[in-house]
Formats: sequence, structure tokens, C-alpha cells
Amino acid sequence: MSKLNDLSPYEQFLRDTFHADDAGLQRLQAEAEQEGLPAISIGPEQGKFLQVLVQLTGARKVLEIGTLGGYSGAWMARALPADGKLISLELEEKHAAFTRRQWAALGLNGKTEVRVGPALDSLPGLADEAPFDLIFIDADKNNYPAYLEWALRYSRSGTIILGDNVSMGGRLADPHQQQNEWIQGMRRFAERMAADERLVSTVVPYADGIAMGVVK
Ligand code: SAH
Ligand code: MG
Repeated sequence: MSKLNDLSPYEQFLRDTFHADDAGLQRLQAEAEQEGLPAISIGPEQGKFLQVLVQLTGARKVLEIGTLGGYSGAWMARALPADGKLISLELEEKHAAFTRRQWAALGLNGKTEVRVGPALDSLPGLADEAPFDLIFIDADKNNYPAYLEWALRYSRSGTIILGDNVSMGGRLADPHQQQNEWIQGMRRFAERMAADERLVSTVVPYADGIAMGVVK
């Protein structure tokens, strides 16, 4: 669950009305906590936003970098057609095993796959699956600029590329944090998302901020 949980009454209304986790997603999050997975998933507002995007674009092939317990992936996979496919890349075998169990319990086995290892090692092997319709980057922040290059390589006109945690918990533009490798990676990613002539980009300020670009 996102740590950004201090909601105003209006935000609480929106969460309850539009974005609430159903029983399956609640179970996934509860078991992730029990099994000691870090509480760094996106929140339900972002999950629903990703789901709307998958639906809106009629996406059939989605790539995620950074699976954790499968929470964000479950939101996206639910909007895929029966013959759609989510491929999610994850460093930790423990996270991948947890996610496979959860996705099976949610009935998402047929359209999801987790590949284990450093994403930069897994990405070259995805050429045959490309282009993807939507790509969600949410792993180690120092590598975001490299992930963006792979995302652009694996895109077509209309592909949506997203990157979570632009704000870095409020630290992105903090002058005392600029030596931090993850802050530097996120800054370079944000600047490239904004400046790359192949993209039209913005930042959606849900939770920690999601950069979103559409390939021209
Ligand atoms: N998208 C998930 C949260 C991902 S948290 C959600 O919102 O539900 C970030 C994940 O990236 C962690 O599970 C971490 O193990 C993984 N990760 C970190 N470095 C990685 C790397 N080099 N390659 C692939 N995954 C990595
Ligand atoms: Mg994140």
C-alpha cells in the first residue's frame, strides 16, 4: 500500500467511490504485508488510472518494470482482453513467486508473466514481444534513463510510457538531495521524458507523481 495515506474527506470519498480495492486486491495487499514485502506499491488511485489507460488504448501488450507483489500489474492485467499479455520484470525471486501466486488467485494466470532478474538483463530478450502498447516503469530509479531508452525502442506510435515516483517523496528538487544516485536518475528520466522529440509528456500528480508520455 502507498505510504501517502493521509486523505482529506474529499480524497477519501474519491477513493471509496472510484478507486477502492476489491476483495482480491485487498487480500493481495494484506498478504504482501504479512510476508514482509516492502510497502512501496502504487496506491489505488494510480492503479485505477493505469487500468483506465489500458482500457482506453485497447492495449493488448503491456510491459512493466518492477513487479513487487503484483498489485499494479493486477490493475492493468484486469483491463487486458483474454488474449492480451502483461510481461512484468522483477529482480527478486521472492517477489516474483508471491506475484505468480496472487495473479493465479485473481484468475490472471493466462495473460500474465513475471520474468526474474535485473531488468536490464531481461529487456534485450523482449524484442520478439515488441512493440508494447503501454509500458510502466517502477523499479530502481538510477536505471530509469536506461529503461526509457528500452521503452522507446519497444514502442510504436501511440504507445504510452509511464514512470512512477517522479516526486521521489518530495526529494526530487531538494537542493540537499542532488548527490543521491536515485534522485539523479529520476531527474534525468524526467528531463528526457519532457524533452524527447518522440514523446508528448506530462506528469500526473497522483501520489508520488507518474510521468506519462505518448509516442508520436
Ligand atoms: N509496480 C509495483 C511496485 C514495484 S516496487 C506496484 O506498484 O505494485 C519496485 C520493484 O522493483 C521491487 O519489487 C524491486 O525488487 C524491483 N527491482 C529493483 N531493482 C530492479 C532491477 N534492477 N530489475 C528489476 N526489478 C528491480
Ligand atoms: Mg513506485
